[in-house]
Amino acid sequence: MMPSKLLLAAVLPLVLGLSITSPLFDAAPAGGQTPPLVSSQAPADVVFRNGDVYTMDSRRPWARGVAVRGSRIAAVVESDAVPASLVGPKTRVVDLGGRMLLPGFIDGHVHFNQAGALIVDVNLMTVAGDEGLAKEVARVVKAVGPGEWITGGLWGAYEQWALGAEKGGAARQGRWLPDRRTIDPLTPDNPCLLSSFDSTLFLANTAALRAAGMEQEKVEGLTIDATGRATGLVAGGSPAHQRVRAVVKPKSPERLLRENRAALTRLAESGIVEIHDITDAAQADRFVRLQQEGALSCRVWMRPDLSRGAELRDAGFTMGVHPVTRQRDRYLRYGALKGYIDGIMGTHGALFFAPYADQPGNYGHYRPHTSDDAKLLVPNMEKMCALIKTGSAAGFVSNVHAIGDKGTALMLDTYERLMKDLGRDLEGFRVIHAQVIRPQDLGRFKALRVIAEVNPYHVSDDMRWMEERIGHERCKGAYAFRSLLDSGAMLSFGSDWPGTSAAEYHMHPKYLLHAAVNRTTLKGTPEGGWFPEQKISVPEALKAYTINNAFAAFDDDTRGSIAAGKLADLVVVDRNLLKIDPRDLLQMNVDLTMVNGRIVFERQPK
Ligand SMILES: [Zn+2]
Repeated sequence: MMPSKLLLAAVLPLVLGLSITSPLFDAAPAGGQTPPLVSSQAPADVVFRNGDVYTMDSRRPWARGVAVRGSRIAAVVESDAVPASLVGPKTRVVDLGGRMLLPGFIDGHVHFNQAGALIVDVNLMTVAGDEGLAKEVARVVKAVGPGEWITGGLWGAYEQWALGAEKGGAARQGRWLPDRRTIDPLTPDNPCLLSSFDSTLFLANTAALRAAGMEQEKVEGLTIDATGRATGLVAGGSPAHQRVRAVVKPKSPERLLRENRAALTRLAESGIVEIHDITDAAQADRFVRLQQEGALSCRVWMRPDLSRGAELRDAGFTMGVHPVTRQRDRYLRYGALKGYIDGIMGTHGALFFAPYADQPGNYGHYRPHTSDDAKLLVPNMEKMCALIKTGSAAGFVSNVHAIGDKGTALMLDTYERLMKDLGRDLEGFRVIHAQVIRPQDLGRFKALRVIAEVNPYHVSDDMRWMEERIGHERCKGAYAFRSLLDSGAMLSFGSDWPGTSAAEYHMHPKYLLHAAVNRTTLKGTPEGGWFPEQKISVPEALKAYTINNAFAAFDDDTRGSIAAGKLADLVVVDRNLLKIDPRDLLQMNVDLTMVNGRIVFERQPK
């Protein structure tokens, strides 16, 4: 019998993504030189043949096949005849039948821990009626055990602006007010505290009122109907809300892991091989747990809050290291620190030089990283500078959220100052979202070498209210991907999955590619695209989704393109995305996803 220590030594590198014990590179493509076609002649584990292989490597953009050995690409094959030496008795040969193989998609921006909750737990974002509420709650009751609380939901996010609308709708004519009667028969054993998207209203069912000892009591904040009965509607922040919230049972670790696993499955099905996540300490622990059980099916670049630089430093961490081994790791590791300069468009919180068109006097607001006052209206940029410097001294770059034109400009000012103070360039620093940019600020991204981390799907969704909120002129600089590229900026694509409380953002690459290339809603409107001069091409979009995101995580030497020696993160899609009519991008399907040489998803033929 194999001693257990030896067994562990054999298994550990697999668990940790092979990055600790394996050499970093089998055959590193040196700058300017064409990489070798085949790194050695031993048989491969998997060979993909007979496909349109789009390598994202400008020296050899197209090939016909790829051989994978262990976690790495062993060979890039330029003809449909695979060298016999690559195929052994145990080699799996996948006939692509002309389908497209490309580097796996790297999602530059997700909120992983929230995504699973919206899959497994209640999702009411598109619900604004009793029927939809009952249907969704019935689904969730089946998925969670008796006694478990059901919380969240975010009802009404699309009540005023129908999902898929391109223009703002009529002003809200009074909103839908749910009643506990609708869900009580479904939830005798599950207390519920559901929320509206803007957190102004909550719905408590009878089990929840009972748990809070409020079934018979008329606490301030409870809505009482004409018959004197509490409807279950609770005003956000009211004494009634606080009483119920105080007795909500937190989700069990097992339930949170179940949500995580559901989110991982969705990522694998979508061809995502790595996420740049916004990660808190509890989620970092869950990633470790998932990796230990062999369930972590994509790479994770964890971005802790900007305020945690000193804490992470004191605990012995720096950027790029695994949360347990503290060694350089390319599978699960701490990434950049995530900061925030301003609010978001969905709540009129993004910071602008001029007020919102539909809210005179409102210029947006700062965030706790950039302000000290309760209303977040007085800036304190020294605070953010100090946090970024602390992070930098501990080896972390910063990625900072900036949405309004003033938020973006202030962030670029801050980076300009930091470049001088730190005495080095800002490679890997990012402006996250970079959603609305003044013309004079466009060129500053390239000058500072900071990455514009953008969220293309926001175009398809946000266009329903963008012009209403900031007017036509400022919209010319909104999601200005063409202008950014023309000014020499590097684009990084991220989904922002699962979205904000006011909008649901899809993660499947078809949505991001469609939005960047067509700039229409999912229904294809407006004809020709919203501010069509900002469209970018499919190759430009794919670059922002693969090699650029590998670069943004300091890994472009080992990932992000297809070349012998690089790590085998690959995706097969059912059509050549460069040959189809771009308007058909939404029809694309992911057929297979490989991460670190392991096939983590394969679509079953219907
Ligand atoms: Zn986000």
